[in-house]
Amino acid sequence: MQYYSLGKQSPNVNFKTAAITGQAPDKGLYFPTTIPQFTPAQIERFKTLDKATLAFEVMKPYVGGTIDDASLQQICAETINFDFPLVPITQTIASLELFHGPTLAFKDVGARFMSRCLGYFSKQASAEKATSIDKSTSTEKPTTVLVATSGDTGGAVANGFLGVDGVDVIILYPKGKVSPIQELQLTTCGQNITALEVEGSFDDCQAIVKDAFMDAPLNKAYNLTSANSINVARWLPQQLYYFFAWQQWVAKYGNDLPMHIVVPSGNFGNICAGMMAKASGLPLGHFVAACNANNVVTRYLQTGNYEVRKAVATVSNAMDVGNPSNFVRILEIMQNNFENLKHALSSYSYDDITTASTIHRVYKTNNYILDPHGAVAFLAAEDFLDKLPTTDINKFKGAIILETAHPVKFPEVVEEAIGQTIEIPKSVQFLLDKQKVSIPMGASFAAFKNWMLTKANA
Ligand SMILES: *Cc1c(COP(=O)(O)O)cnc(C)c1O
Repeated sequence: MQYYSLGKQSPNVNFKTAAITGQAPDKGLYFPTTIPQFTPAQIERFKTLDKATLAFEVMKPYVGGTIDDASLQQICAETINFDFPLVPITQTIASLELFHGPTLAFKDVGARFMSRCLGYFSKQASAEKATSIDKSTSTEKPTTVLVATSGDTGGAVANGFLGVDGVDVIILYPKGKVSPIQELQLTTCGQNITALEVEGSFDDCQAIVKDAFMDAPLNKAYNLTSANSINVARWLPQQLYYFFAWQQWVAKYGNDLPMHIVVPSGNFGNICAGMMAKASGLPLGHFVAACNANNVVTRYLQTGNYEVRKAVATVSNAMDVGNPSNFVRILEIMQNNFENLKHALSSYSYDDITTASTIHRVYKTNNYILDPHGAVAFLAAEDFLDKLPTTDINKFKGAIILETAHPVKFPEVVEEAIGQTIEIPKSVQFLLDKQKVSIPMGASFAAFKNWMLTKANA
């Protein structure tokens, strides 16, 4: 299995190189040269396979031999060692709860897989160095992961990479703009994880990271890589929970009822992974991208014009993305054909007031607490099911929404909407006793670069 750059100007690489470098030299995103095809017999077997084995069989073709089977089995088992329950909310809408991982976010899956892959490659590099006769040829620098976060990514990446040998992580987050639990998840790890508290916005953090990847002295001093969904090692394992959801769906409804899927979308990595799973043979239904006011894709599907706008701040802030980086991958899966795309994907967009009132309504009516991202998805599921064509009408129709984060991570919005406090899950209560450790940083690339270069020379 090779990966080509969607920029079309860089050579093909294997999974290892794609995972270590993140982006191709031409700044394109990597995409597999062939999408693996699972046969109907394999799909039938997948119905009852245990999660770890299923994860291994799905990921193996993508890893393409760059990780030995025993290690990949272990990486997969560790990546998914928590629950992915499909919980009914109404008669027709169920929630795939992706917040049972260590940082209560779906990003745990991608971060855990990617960190373990980089850890494996780093160990491999030191072993090669130790046995190399000509020491002068081995100038491996440790890998440094740079990541800007509006909240969820940072925690998942910190937790995933904590203690991974040969990989350092530097997280930039906007001071005062992440929730208390999110801040504790970012700032209490220690060891190989450093949190920079930036006097600015998420956009400022992201701009600093972007500049860093382009900066020659920094790239000389460090082996920099990114941990966002551009990286194939973070993007591709997100396919797994679509397989787990489908297992639960067919156990309940059998083969005949299509499982339509609504995904709260920002950078479109998550939904794109689901569309890959479908392209590889998993019998999934229609995909719906649920968006907040940042609705470039919703408008594109309506008008055919892809018109990028600057991101605006919303209550579902993990989806505040003006120009979704993974959308080019979706276009590639759809063979860059607009009709194919419209056939496979719909999109709806909602404002903050509707989102908050939906959290209230679903709590009162169905006794289920949605987070703001899940609430946007719930709205889209209702609208989608309303408009589902008559061919499906004789059958029961239903959809799942991906609940991408635990509501406790967005207490301001959710507690206001439901009129009570949310209990902090046991699994994160230990954070409350921990001491935040962060390094204050001005919102300028110059300040960041200076700090990085001083650190490299220390
Ligand atoms: C990251 C995130 C999203 C958006 O996922 P994409 O893959 O960027 O589309 C949605 N919800 C939550 C809670 C997130 O953290």
